[in-house]
Amino acid sequence: MKFHLILSVFICAVTFPLLSWSADPARTADIAVRDLTKSDFPRWKELAPNVYAYADLLTSAGTTLTTVSLIVVTSDGVVIVDGQNTVVQGEAMVRNIKKITSQPIKYMVIASDHGDHVNANPAFKAAYPDIVFISSPVSQKVLSRIDFRSEASKSGTLPTEVVSDKRTLSLGGTDIQILNLGRGHTGGDLIVYLPKSKVLFLGELYLRYVFPAMVSAYPSEWVALLKKVQTMDVSWFVPGHGFIGDSEEVMKVGLDDALEATEHVISEAKRLYAKGLTCEVETNCPAMKEANWESYSDWTLYSSQAPRALARVYKEIEGKLP
Ligand SMILES: [Zn+2]
Repeated sequence: MKFHLILSVFICAVTFPLLSWSADPARTADIAVRDLTKSDFPRWKELAPNVYAYADLLTSAGTTLTTVSLIVVTSDGVVIVDGQNTVVQGEAMVRNIKKITSQPIKYMVIASDHGDHVNANPAFKAAYPDIVFISSPVSQKVLSRIDFRSEASKSGTLPTEVVSDKRTLSLGGTDIQILNLGRGHTGGDLIVYLPKSKVLFLGELYLRYVFPAMVSAYPSEWVALLKKVQTMDVSWFVPGHGFIGDSEEVMKVGLDDALEATEHVISEAKRLYAKGLTCEVETNCPAMKEANWESYSDWTLYSSQAPRALARVYKEIEGKLP
């Protein structure tokens, strides 16, 4: 008996880490690897009373991953942070919020101005005509650009209020801090912190086991920003892409890993640059052949994002970022 117990403990101790290492289901954002299907989405998780992380799907370069929104319900209205990729997904989000509360959506904070986080916005405006869209000054400019203006202004979803530094929305006794801590993933990044529940929504500044997507990033500033948020008093770090169903501790580890991944991309780009290898644009990037991505090549969207990231860090090295 005793021997069997010791033996089984030994076997668990030896094989379990090996199994979890080789399968590594935690270190991916690909829903298929976690045995989830499209019919499992959208899904949401109540992180703290009246605070929900909401995930719906995005298919990019043949891989399906999640896009995450934050929903904060108060007795004086709802605040959402980031939307989804399509108007249909926005309509579903409105229906699902109505299942949680009868309160209207009063504010939407645009943490990332990328399409997969703002394309759903006309659905929120249609359901709640008085909704106020808030972004950084940079994102307001981006969303007002000629190529976007017709759709966004027609649908009335252009941000009318901006946060350059910090703003606190106080609704029904809940404080919702909107923070502009600098540039990272988009250049117009905002984050949202709830001091009572200590939930921090990082949006696309936190890509959970998604290869660092840098097409419009400021790589070194992104690293500095993540180091700053690591010092904040946070229980839940909420990503813009990736799974939301794990524990507080695991979500924190994911952030640490995301920071390390970003640092690795930068140091690898610097090494390749110093060797004289070029990477003009993602489609003309001989440096890719010599790059050592370690286990980050297992991360979701690696093939599409790695050359883009390399090209972007090269621009930063050469002082050519916009
Ligand atoms: Zn995105």
